[in-house]
Amino acid sequence: MHEMSLMESVRDIVEDAARAHGARRVTTVRLRIGALSTVDAGALRFCFDVVMHDGVAEGAALEIETEPGAAWCWDCQVAVAVLAEGAGCPTCGGHRLQVTGGTDMRVKDIDLATEPELPTCA
Ligand SMILES: [Zn+2]
Repeated sequence: MHEMSLMESVRDIVEDAARAHGARRVTTVRLRIGALSTVDAGALRFCFDVVMHDGVAEGAALEIETEPGAAWCWDCQVAVAVLAEGAGCPTCGGHRLQVTGGTDMRVKDIDLATEPELPTCA
């Protein structure tokens, strides 16, 4: 299950971001998963709870979006979107496709909760 090590790298990104912004807590983490990646969203959710336990993102919401894969069709000579692993070219139905994107997972953005500013005595 490589989702666990993926989530550990997400935790590093999230904790760095929280530290950089002086945030005490992370409220939402948004991930994008390429349609051609082998990442399983259900496994990611499980790993999120395990990995974020006792960290700055404990209890944060996890939002997962998928993005279509991208490929070059050698028959049509155009860039096409591929919706799933093993799907053919949406235009010609062929499989002479060179995948160019949508194979990875990345952190899209992170919502941080910063401490309210201390009132200053005027
Ligand atoms: Zn094609």
